[in-house]
Amino acid sequence: MNEDGKNRNGEAVTDGGSGSEPETALATARRQLERAASHADVDDGVVARLKHPTRVQQVSVPLRRDDGSLDVFTGFRAQHDDVRGPYKGGLRYHPEVTADECIGLSMWMTWKCAVMDLPFGGGKGGVAVDPKTLSDEERERLTRRFAEEIRNVVGPKKDVPAPDMGTGPQEMAWFMDAYSMQQGETTPGVVTGKPPVIGGSYGREEAPGRSVAIVTREAVDFYDWNIEDTTVAVQGFGSVGANAARLLDEWGAKVVAVSDVDGAIYDPDGLDTQDVEGHDERPGMVSGYDAPESLSNEELLELDVDVLIPAAIGNVITTENVDAISAEMVVEGANGPTTFAADAVLEERGIPVVPDILANAGGVTVSYFEWLQDINRRQWSLERVHEELEAEMLKAWNAVREHVEERDLTWRDAAYVVALSRIGGAKETRGLWP
Ligand code: NAD
Repeated sequence: MNEDGKNRNGEAVTDGGSGSEPETALATARRQLERAASHADVDDGVVARLKHPTRVQQVSVPLRRDDGSLDVFTGFRAQHDDVRGPYKGGLRYHPEVTADECIGLSMWMTWKCAVMDLPFGGGKGGVAVDPKTLSDEERERLTRRFAEEIRNVVGPKKDVPAPDMGTGPQEMAWFMDAYSMQQGETTPGVVTGKPPVIGGSYGREEAPGRSVAIVTREAVDFYDWNIEDTTVAVQGFGSVGANAARLLDEWGAKVVAVSDVDGAIYDPDGLDTQDVEGHDERPGMVSGYDAPESLSNEELLELDVDVLIPAAIGNVITTENVDAISAEMVVEGANGPTTFAADAVLEERGIPVVPDILANAGGVTVSYFEWLQDINRRQWSLERVHEELEAEMLKAWNAVREHVEERDLTWRDAAYVVALSRIGGAKETRGLWP
């Protein structure tokens, strides 16, 4: 954690209810669960069970370095709940990975899968390592050894990891290969986010950004705005942000500002988002783009736009800046960009916030499509992935919208109620064994 109470990704801590004390992802996740439980008709015993993960596997991951020396890293796999199906969630390589962070993030995955009505529960894991300090060969050896250390708790019917911070399709390919070698059979369904040549799905990479764009379009329609008159600012022009911005631009919205870690660009007449290269495509190209105005990331967040899409890191809308937010609506592209306390202020100010567990859930939804393709050994076309994602997003959006309309809940509370009702229903129906 750094001095202002945020980890590097900002996802593990928040400024909490008081605006002063930071808290862990696990504490935030439990608090959100309690708040959701107060709106949902779910048995207290079920809520008590959901406050705890089913299992957290901690492992040592020894790594032979290229120079012959040996280092030992710590890895985790947190499995929160699998009442609706196998645990699902990413594996991250980051120096600040902890058991508590994995548990908190695995809880969010449980809600995200449930709000999308996917037959999965929540998992999350990783290794406490800075991947930038590893050569490609060391990353491969670390991934294979980590796969072996958690092999007993993962599997296509048990727990299906995916890429997260610091990992990508290549790590998933090594993981799948290591698992398959030990099982004695090619098992593509053990992880998602693989390259398509070994069973990955087309459209997986752009899926979270696509779902952000879809729910933004639906929200614009819900509030009777016209997409052509809608101005949008996107913080973080990476995988999620660039895909969302380019689609919204294509659908007629005016994307007036985008940013990367180095700063933001602004054009009140609308940027040509296809022409702006993303940070991953070429680092520094966003802030270096020849736009009418340059802004800081902080200024971008405070722009007077219709839709603000924070799509970079967590905890960027806090009690420090929430009063300066001038957007008419926030759509969360990143995981946890709004702190618990700032969320309450936005609610008071009547600024709707479409939550992360719905908005960026396109990623896990296409992971589900990948898992189906792997089980059936039949690859879908990109067109089919887009069509099915659109259908799943609309289904989830409508389920959440009904609660917003009928019970006057915030979008976040409504999404949690949908998720919790499904999980609670499954738990109550299955009962407790023995
Ligand atoms: P990415 O690395 O592709 O892009 C991140 C972007 O944010 C880059 O443009 C980077 O320059 C910018 N950025 C980094 N630090 C910043 C800072 N301090 N201030 C402003 N901008 C900053 O990452 P991504 O995959 O697009 O993920 C973004 C967020 O979305 C994360 O919170 C991630 O957890 C979440 N998310 C990602 C996926 C996915 O599958 N990619 C799925 C769901 C949620």
